[in-house]
Amino acid sequence: MSEDKNITFDDALAEIRKYITNEDDIARIVEAFEFANSMHEGQFRKSGEPYIVHIIHVAFILAGLRGGPQTIIAGILHDVIEDTNITDEEFTDKFGEEIFAIVEGVTKIGNLKFDNLEEYQAENHRKIFIAMANDIRVIIVKLVDRLHNMRTLKYMPEDKQKRIAQETLDVYAPIAHRLGMFEIKNELEDLCFYYLDRERYYEIAKMVEVRRTERDTYVTEMITTLDEILSGKNINFKIFGRSKHLFSINRKMDKKNIAFDEILDLLAIRVITKTDLECYEVLGYIHSRFTPVPGRLKDYIAMPKFNMYQSLHTTVIGVGGNIFEIQIRTEEMDEVAEKGVAAHWRYKEGSEYNAKDEQAEIEEKLHWFRDIINLTDNTKISDATEFMQHLQDDLFNTSVYVMSPQGRVIDLPIDSTPIDFAYRIHSEIGNKAVGATVNGNLVPLSTKLKTGDVVEIRTSKQSTGPNDDWLSFVKTSTARSRIKSFYKKLEKEEREPVLERGKLMWQAELKKREEDPASISTKKMSSVLLLFGISSLDDFYYAIGSNSLSMARVAEKLFKGHKQPEEIRANKQTPKKLKDVSSSKFGVMVAGLDSMMISLAQCCNPVKGDVISGYVTKGQGVTVHRTNCINVVNEKERLINCDWVDNDIDPRYESIIIIEGAEKNNLVADIIQVVSQNKASLLEINSRLNSDNISVTATLKVTVKDLEHLNNIIVNMNKVEGIHSVSRKGEIK
Ligand code: MN
Repeated sequence: MSEDKNITFDDALAEIRKYITNEDDIARIVEAFEFANSMHEGQFRKSGEPYIVHIIHVAFILAGLRGGPQTIIAGILHDVIEDTNITDEEFTDKFGEEIFAIVEGVTKIGNLKFDNLEEYQAENHRKIFIAMANDIRVIIVKLVDRLHNMRTLKYMPEDKQKRIAQETLDVYAPIAHRLGMFEIKNELEDLCFYYLDRERYYEIAKMVEVRRTERDTYVTEMITTLDEILSGKNINFKIFGRSKHLFSINRKMDKKNIAFDEILDLLAIRVITKTDLECYEVLGYIHSRFTPVPGRLKDYIAMPKFNMYQSLHTTVIGVGGNIFEIQIRTEEMDEVAEKGVAAHWRYKEGSEYNAKDEQAEIEEKLHWFRDIINLTDNTKISDATEFMQHLQDDLFNTSVYVMSPQGRVIDLPIDSTPIDFAYRIHSEIGNKAVGATVNGNLVPLSTKLKTGDVVEIRTSKQSTGPNDDWLSFVKTSTARSRIKSFYKKLEKEEREPVLERGKLMWQAELKKREEDPASISTKKMSSVLLLFGISSLDDFYYAIGSNSLSMARVAEKLFKGHKQPEEIRANKQTPKKLKDVSSSKFGVMVAGLDSMMISLAQCCNPVKGDVISGYVTKGQGVTVHRTNCINVVNEKERLINCDWVDNDIDPRYESIIIIEGAEKNNLVADIIQVVSQNKASLLEINSRLNSDNISVTATLKVTVKDLEHLNNIIVNMNKVEGIHSVSRKGEIK
């Protein structure tokens, strides 16, 4: 545990000057400090120290993380809005909108009331992440604030200590972990461990201490040996022994139910090199000298962890037969490993500080960050527990690595499918996905991916969007939220015009009946609608706009005893009649569906007798395609059975025929003759000379009785001299 050292503002400033050299920035930082100092004047912490001591520590820790000037200033001012009487306007005038926004975010998070109930906690997690959406620096300042508060927790009453420690362990440490800020995460966890289970804390600390001498001897011996092996190999390296933090030792013992002595990586060594290549060289030399423990080699350099962590890990049987865990990484990787996001946040000396660029860069690396934001923006999750579940999955279950054909490595939660992969690449790829290959083989879209799989998504421009079945197997919140928002948007787009039409129809009905809309009581209206199983006015408009409810019947009930105008009586028959006409319009029947909702596809022009399938479009009914139509052949999940029916009226079907033939004077005339001989109507004919200059392609649109009729035309057309081929549009050749 870190001690709460006495640090002055000069110490903090010295740390800041190590990397911020622009004097204007330094002047702004000093000005902010002087302002905070005067604002917090007369305020004291529980420890009895002036409040400003807390502020100085926050600035010092942020400087250690190499935070930019804006972050440092926001850290210095982080309690000013909350704890002093400055107005938002004064603050903004003095320090600008950017810093105001960060401080406001920190204040908001600070005001969240955490509860032990899971529901509330989930809700608060969400708020934190939404706050992060504005600016990730909010969370960095908040984590540092919390770290210093944890370091000084001993001044709090015991019940508060426990509550704050639990909250830190549940909320803040996982966020630090997620952001790759391991130094802060480890310290927070050890502090929480101390306050939540002091007895166990001391127990572990004692065990570590007892073994220290013994352990230190082994580690020193191993370091010496490694040094000998690597020296003279033309590799830049440094070797360190390192110790595990107490909380993680305890967790390992608990989780794996093992004794202290059995923890493998207690003897731990880190080798730091200059280049990636040297990391692998070092690994090679170590493995050629010591036997590696099978299954313990991890290459996080080629496949970085979700929080940008990179390193090689191996476990070997080292000197004296002891087991050592060895981490090998470059200096840069080491910095990322300790500081995480903050390491990427470094103030770039000599270049213009640009918060926007840094924000974008970090968000690109932390794709999960955007996912969470999308989830909270697009999807109303009524159940906070569900959100918690998704969040937990995203935070901790990221462990399948798959590749695009171009070799891009994508990390996904366990049991992710090609659809999760598709949405991770791009939402349009997800929305237009129709198939997938894994390692070159065509697979179902619900296939569970394994590490190392090469995944390729097949898309189709004709795809009308994601399948709602996908929700039953996708694993990432990205995919889930994109699919849901697609449907939400679709539903809205489709519903609104219908609803609007229903409203107009109802207004016309009232006018016709000479009823005053204002005189209809809401209570009366809703009780009548309930008789028809409708619970809101919008649903009513939608029902009549889509012709699924007879407006006349509602009006009759509603205006019972009122005068019934003649035209209303006539209208009473209308719905049934309309239905009859439409059901025979195309001679197609779909079980359980109102015939108004059936239409024939324009892409493949089915005619009576074709093998057909219905393609379901949400809210728009069913479009009937030929079963082998290229647009539906891959959409099996959305197809439903339908069939032709015989009826008394004699429908005519449009069909488009494509003819290839030799360029000759009377080709078009010959084609027209075949059409008329077969008693079909010609609607349109186009012909053009092909680029080879000797052949012609003619397209004609005709109406036919049925498939037999159409086939006769095609057969006769084929007999015409000079015609090479005759086919229907939409046919797969
Ligand atoms: Mn504070």
